[in-house]
Amino acid sequence: MLGLYLHIPFCSSICNYCNFNRGLFESGLKDRYVAALEQEIRVSGRGEAVDTIFFGGGTPSLLDPAEIARLIAASRQAFDVTPDAEVTLETNPETSTPDRMGGFRDAGVNRVSFGVQSFREPELKRLGRVHTAERARGAVREARAAGFDNISLDLMMWLPQQSAVDWRESVDALIEVAPEHASLYLLELYPNAPLKEEMARAGWSLAPDDDAAEMYLWSLAALERAGYGQYEISNVARPGRRSRHNLKYWQDGEWLGLGCGAHSTRNGARWKNVSSTDEYISRLQCGHSVVADRRELTRESQLEEALFTGLRLAEGLDLDIVGERYGIDAWARYDAALQPSLEAGLAIREGGRLRLTRDGMLLANEVLSVFV
Ligand code: SF4
Repeated sequence: MLGLYLHIPFCSSICNYCNFNRGLFESGLKDRYVAALEQEIRVSGRGEAVDTIFFGGGTPSLLDPAEIARLIAASRQAFDVTPDAEVTLETNPETSTPDRMGGFRDAGVNRVSFGVQSFREPELKRLGRVHTAERARGAVREARAAGFDNISLDLMMWLPQQSAVDWRESVDALIEVAPEHASLYLLELYPNAPLKEEMARAGWSLAPDDDAAEMYLWSLAALERAGYGQYEISNVARPGRRSRHNLKYWQDGEWLGLGCGAHSTRNGARWKNVSSTDEYISRLQCGHSVVADRRELTRESQLEEALFTGLRLAEGLDLDIVGERYGIDAWARYDAALQPSLEAGLAIREGGRLRLTRDGMLLANEVLSVFV
């Protein structure tokens, strides 16, 4: 089934490491954007079956619950959204109140994903985040009180000045808060990130690579002891609580990305909407297409991607099945190239199945480069 990704490009302040398609919240622009997004939903749907809706951003929780309800209703009218669809709202802790969380729940959201990033104040300040650790805990309490039983928390590791002990403090705090799902992301600094300049000015440094590897491995072990299972390089979940939407990205699935800058993959093609919020709105107002860039995927590039993304999953991939789907003998094609990784203990072959070990996950791009 299709997944729907709805992009909301507004934030209450801009974090110094962020390279997403977002801008500062402005009420008038937001109103026009929601109307445009609703229109794109209506013209995109042909009644196809949809089992996930994901509001990503930006900060989708800056929208009012009534606006989220409007966009979900438009999705239900344009698509055949299953009654048990997973409907996720990315939420920043500073936007949460008991009323708003109750409103989002009534609107039809059944999963919230909180961008917490750290439970340590100095780290939150260095990242330019506007919430505190206590606000993050409060937001999760508010979501629980509103009836959410599917909550995810994002943490970021390898932050400036973050030691292994600091990282453990955040992971322990996350376990105490007890979400159903957690994502552990590595801070990636793009070339002109303001945080890079701040780091140089303030003399902040990153922990050595070996420490970062140890931090990653330690946190997965701690989360496993607490009842979470790793199912993807950066994601863990309690049983039955994997992100159904994100699994579409890793399991060769199909999704429609609606909103400015959103990407779609469907029927062997991939396309991207215009990034600019203003241009997105004006194109829709004129009845023009919002697609900026579209390409047909060759069978070869679909295969490469199925392997490259699928092997991010902890359970790995059955290369025999993937080969069958794409009409090749995958083991014959890749066996020799995979040998160094297999011998180094970075990947394991179990029958027709290939999966990365934890050490292999640390070097995933290197191991998976044999497929592209
Ligand atoms: S809240 Fe998220 S999307 Fe917005 S600026 Fe910060 S990192 Fe970027």
